[in-house]
Amino acid sequence: MTGRPLYEKVLLKLSGEVLAGDGGTGIDRAVVERLSDEIAEASRRGVKVGVVAGGGNFLRGAAFAGEGGDRVAGDQMGMLGTIMNAIAFREALTRRGIAARVFSAVPVPTICETFTQRDADRAFEAGEVLLFAGGTGNPFFTTDTGAALRAAEMGCDALFKGTQVDGIYSADPKLDPDAVRFDRMTHEEVLAKGLEVMDAAAVSLARDNGIPVIVFSILQPGAIVAILDGKGKSTIVTD
Ligand code: UDP
Repeated sequence: MTGRPLYEKVLLKLSGEVLAGDGGTGIDRAVVERLSDEIAEASRRGVKVGVVAGGGNFLRGAAFAGEGGDRVAGDQMGMLGTIMNAIAFREALTRRGIAARVFSAVPVPTICETFTQRDADRAFEAGEVLLFAGGTGNPFFTTDTGAALRAAEMGCDALFKGTQVDGIYSADPKLDPDAVRFDRMTHEEVLAKGLEVMDAAAVSLARDNGIPVIVFSILQPGAIVAILDGKGKSTIVTD
């Protein structure tokens, strides 16, 4: 990274799918190690980084319900999965000498801290990397919404949405060779077009709080740092 980063306080949303790597489920340690290197580099440059890891690499409540299970029980398992992901990052970052704390919306006091905005804000100001777990703490929500909520609460100047694709396209680039990537869009356009990049509640929350959403491919090594430097491919969603 060179020069002054474009953003000072960033909320990075990682999907559980990304953390599963090629294995499809669970945690791929190599992925966590690589992403931790990038998060550590951003943190060393003075960028305040909050991370929301999804839990889809373990279980999604909607899928559990689709197979005949109880939705709320499935969502509870999904939320617990996000705590495992957050602990994996805490461990990897701590090993790199980066102070990192897990704040969970679901209280698990013997393992991590329970989220309060005040405690998290203090840790953020002290330059610690914050790993937000447990989503919003409620069933029927997603970690995208949890990420937008934490970004608003923590006063982040951007929500980085790391996906498997390098931005928002006019059509699925895996299926349509003529699909074009948008450099910029408004929150309103994302909502009106029903684009599936993030759930609507998350996009609305980002819009209402004036938070830009940067959609980029997390599979590209060095992507987090590149985006902070204003380089690399992405779609920037702003007002
Ligand atoms: N979840 C929930 N409330 C939240 C966040 C997550 O109930 O506030 C549950 C829900 O079942 C969800 C699962 O946790 O499917 C994993 O989260 P998500 O699907 O957002 O993870 P990702 O797709 O980012 O891996």
